Amino acid sequence: MDSSRMKNTTLCYIEQNGQYLMLHRIKKKQDGNYDKWIGIGGHFEEYESPYDCILREAREETGLTLLDCTYRGIVSFCSPEFETEQMHLFFCTKFEGSLIDCDEGELAWISKEQLYTLPMWSGDRIFLDLLHQNVPFFSLKLVYDRVGTLLSHELHFSETQRVPLLISACLTGSRCRYDGESKPMSKSLLEALSQKYILIPICGEVMGGLSVPRIPAEVQKDGNVKRKDGQDVTNAYRLGAEEVLRYAKLTGAKAALLKARSPSCGKGKIYDGTFTKTITNGNGITAQLLLHHGITVYTEEEVDALL
Ligand code: SF4
Repeated sequence: MDSSRMKNTTLCYIEQNGQYLMLHRIKKKQDGNYDKWIGIGGHFEEYESPYDCILREAREETGLTLLDCTYRGIVSFCSPEFETEQMHLFFCTKFEGSLIDCDEGELAWISKEQLYTLPMWSGDRIFLDLLHQNVPFFSLKLVYDRVGTLLSHELHFSETQRVPLLISACLTGSRCRYDGESKPMSKSLLEALSQKYILIPICGEVMGGLSVPRIPAEVQKDGNVKRKDGQDVTNAYRLGAEEVLRYAKLTGAKAALLKARSPSCGKGKIYDGTFTKTITNGNGITAQLLLHHGITVYTEEEVDALL
């Protein structure tokens, strides 16, 4: 293969009311993306910039005029089967016009939750995650084998002075706690952290599939997690912890700032499983998994160490 060949493309996720406009590529049998769900975009034409290309592609494929297209990153696709592709990734929440029929596939508005259940390239899930986390401009390299299996990925942020830091979402003001509330740190502390770190909010309980609000749970003596009504929710806590670890690996975060004493996020001290506000030594399920994988965990009571 001629290693000097390289193609430039664009891709845009258009969002409206928590749904993404996706294209189910089922109209061209010779399509390398056949049956995959992808965003809107395509190849550069002569003399086009990334913006020119995505505005034209969106107009041609969807009939929509993009009004606030944000340039979010560059994704490099590498495979022995195809020429290397540099894909310029955009995100858009403001547009005008009405949808038209697309000759490359069927257009559909898909909820963020449903999106991950549809057939798509493994690498697409990675840059979708990055968009959801609102990370700064990034360069993502995806290496596939001949049959389209993702072998590896490499992520770099355009900023070199700030490093990624996982942070309990409830500490940033997200109302993801069991009681539907948050426990936000002061604005000045969050601003000071943002100066130094790319904050990646995570919530092990919500990411494990638990709802908000939910019945409170505590880690038991045997390490399982039970709700106050006795129901075992260990699997959801473990699943959420795995998801948080996946975000740590994806973003390259080496440290996490987590909510003290939570059955998921607590470090060193947690409630003892009796629902009597009694504290014992131990870690929450997410904190434990992160520590096990060499990620340094701080609680909000140790935030000075991060600043
Ligand atoms: Fe906050 Fe962590 Fe509990 Fe989520 S799991 S509500 S981030 S303490």
